[in-house]
Amino acid sequence: RAKLDGKNCLRFYTRDMDMVMEREMQLEQDLHLALDRGELSVVYQPIHSLQSGRIIGAEALVRWNHPQRGPMATELFIAVAEQTGQIEAIGRFVLKVACAEAATWPQVDGVAPFVSVNISARQLRQGALPDLVDAELRESGLPPARLHLELTETMMFSLEQEAIGACARLRAAGVRIWLDDFGTGFSGLSHLRRVPIDGVKIDRSFVSGMLDDADDLALTAAIIAMAHSLGIVVTAEGVESQGQFDALEARGCDNLQGFLLGRPMSAADLVRELGG
Ligand code: C2E
Ligand code: MG
Ligand code: MG
Ligand code: MG
Repeated sequence: RAKLDGKNCLRFYTRDMDMVMEREMQLEQDLHLALDRGELSVVYQPIHSLQSGRIIGAEALVRWNHPQRGPMATELFIAVAEQTGQIEAIGRFVLKVACAEAATWPQVDGVAPFVSVNISARQLRQGALPDLVDAELRESGLPPARLHLELTETMMFSLEQEAIGACARLRAAGVRIWLDDFGTGFSGLSHLRRVPIDGVKIDRSFVSGMLDDADDLALTAAIIAMAHSLGIVVTAEGVESQGQFDALEARGCDNLQGFLLGRPMSAADLVRELGG
């Protein structure tokens, strides 16, 4: 009886895993076509300065509208693309579109907003990123200082010296480097000294917990204070309520991003928001 259960159980798992693999392979194939068929697009979520209350930049976020399945969950297909290597082609696409669109954005208070592009570990390891960025900046005419690259904390601290060198090269060219989802990687703030960065983005999980959880609030305050003592700018992501806004303002956070201030939107809508 136990044996039978075990067998049934095994068969069940096997079929389940086959289905998961099949779906992933299907996703991989569809993703391959998605670029050629123009199913991928880029939306922009505004980033506000707390001091001026104005939009100072926007994060580029990729979207995939599948012909049969509709809008696909970004985190899911990015994860698949990272495994298969398709993230390199997708990343090139997003970088090209983001630079071209941001180059046309109007100034706000005499300053043109930056565009912030997510970069995956694979793109950075691959080695060609500094040259690619250089080519896209030249082709679009976007000044380097108006391009920010977001790397995740976990990825940054597992990188080889070579990839850290690529970051340094990008920074030397005037591009800004941000650590995304900061606080989730358990890297410790002292690691910040090791890597050449301009800013950190406090992960959404701290912001969503900070009003109910004293630890989240303490960590958020500590990240802001430590970053500032190192001359690093702090952006909080996932700001959804006025309470969170006020708590972050009271602790001296520099910039805010979240549904309270603006959802991801088309480039045309962003330009309208900018008053252009
Ligand atoms: P991320 O870089 O941390 O981007 C922020 C995510 O939080 C976005 O999800 C955004 O829509 C969402 N978000 C912003 N404000 C709020 C808020 O107030 N509440 C809540 N609940 N969510 C908020 P999205 O667009 O689904 O992207 C998910 C992740 O996928 C991104 O996280 C990023 O890691 C990755 N990703 C997106 N676009 C790209 C890309 O072009 N290249 C790479 N490599 N990764 C990308
Ligand atoms: Mg990001
Ligand atoms: Mg983030
Ligand atoms: Mg995140």
